[in-house]
Amino acid sequence: MDPLETSLPLRDQPICVAGEWRRGRGDRYASVYPADGSVSAELNAASADDAREAVERAQQAFVATDWARRRPHERARVLHRVADAIRARREDLAQWQRRDNGKPINETRALVDSAAGTFQFFGSACETLEDQLTPMRGDQLTMSVHEPMGVVAAITPWNSPIASEAQKMAPALAAGNAVVVKPAEITPLMALALARICEEAGVPRGMVSVLPGKGSVVGDVLVKHPLVRRVSFTGGTVTGRAIAHAAAEKMMPVSLELGGKSPTMVFDDCDIDHAVAGVLFGIFSSSGESCIAGSRLFVQKGLYARFMERLVAGARALRIGDPVSERTQMGPLVSHAHRESIERHVARALADGGRLLAGGERPTGAGRERGCYYTPTIFEGLANDSALCREEVFGPVLAALPFDDEDDLIAQANDSVYALAAGIWTRDYRRAWRVARAVAAGTVWINTYKQFSISTPFGGWRDSGIGREKGRLGILAYMEQKSLYWGMNAAPLPWCA
Ligand code: NAP
Repeated sequence: MDPLETSLPLRDQPICVAGEWRRGRGDRYASVYPADGSVSAELNAASADDAREAVERAQQAFVATDWARRRPHERARVLHRVADAIRARREDLAQWQRRDNGKPINETRALVDSAAGTFQFFGSACETLEDQLTPMRGDQLTMSVHEPMGVVAAITPWNSPIASEAQKMAPALAAGNAVVVKPAEITPLMALALARICEEAGVPRGMVSVLPGKGSVVGDVLVKHPLVRRVSFTGGTVTGRAIAHAAAEKMMPVSLELGGKSPTMVFDDCDIDHAVAGVLFGIFSSSGESCIAGSRLFVQKGLYARFMERLVAGARALRIGDPVSERTQMGPLVSHAHRESIERHVARALADGGRLLAGGERPTGAGRERGCYYTPTIFEGLANDSALCREEVFGPVLAALPFDDEDDLIAQANDSVYALAAGIWTRDYRRAWRVARAVAAGTVWINTYKQFSISTPFGGWRDSGIGREKGRLGILAYMEQKSLYWGMNAAPLPWCA
């Protein structure tokens, strides 16, 4: 039985407009559980007017409350309380996140842990951030300090809600800003829960808003509103590019965490057990709905046949099923519409001459009829310039390609508009170093894949994005830098003499 069944659905879920919890003025809609199509929550989306009001009231709160002026260690104390409150509600949050986008419960628990760690980390980053006394080059004492920006907007996708939202809310608040969050329309619950937790932990009223609703309505207002001083966006490259254009009009800094088509490179001297497990995890965990999914696989020719045999057997053995079960490795996709888009990619790959080694279909069996499930799918026989190797599928579909030598491999791996992540499997540490330095990617995993640490900056090159999130200095993305010159001259400035 679904652990939340007795309390479902959440009717009239309010939105949060600068601390006021109320019904949105936009269209009514339902948040649907992708595993069976049942309704998790019903709510009225935020309207464009709600968004404008949230920004204006957030600006008032930024000025009127003492949040920006509190000492860093005082803000840190509140953020640590947020982290503790997330941990205290771990199981509830993980179950709600599972309902929101259908991820298996083991994954959603890990996402909740990650969100708690993010608030803790940025509490500490805020408390320990140092400004600089820069070297004196004249009769002035010079300093570089950092100030909060005011109102910042956070726009997030549906694939890992609580972690994505924490990754933006925590540094934005740590820096002293007010934050207005626009979660993906179809996954509104986690951001709303985080807003409640922030409020209970002592973030002043008005400093957090959460506006579930359409990107073309709510997101558009946030990006263009003159009082929004920065947008931190995670989502697709097409949306990211449109946001970058709008940001250019108002000279607003943006960080854009976008799509990927990440290469995983397997050399013939790898530990094959580790590499097979890593490649399976890299593409099929989260049902492939992951920006860093290792969706292009390059295997050295001498190992190719043996490796693919193991990989295909591993893919066929993956446990697809109910996200409520701790044994489930792959849950449903986020929606029927998304599954149809994946099916179009698969049909195109077949038309392009791809040979299907595994999957390529909807799984059958009890409990799967109403969910948006899809089998782990592996293709070979496609060229690196085929559509499947060029376009982000955002699903459990892998294209495998054999390679000859390192130079040819690097050229193919880098021949992509995307450059988000890459994986290398080899026992030769010199080669690992060479390849890791040569590959175009914001993150490279060596003999591992899809592992994350909040302490390590993350972001993409090329069409995969601009800017970095995470890392101790990630807080600076939410601050403006200011230089101070203190006159120490014994006499008036000589120009007037
Ligand atoms: P998306 O369609 O770009 O949407 C992302 C967010 O932007 C949603 O909240 C969406 O609202 C909003 N949005 C849409 N149009 C907008 C506009 N004109 N102005 C402002 N906001 C707008 O992406 P998605 O399908 O939700 O997510 C999948 C994509 O995210 C993939 O490409 C994936 O690679 C990428 N992603 C990247 C990272 C990373 O860190 N690099 C991490 C996770 C996901 P709606 O809910 O109304 O659509």
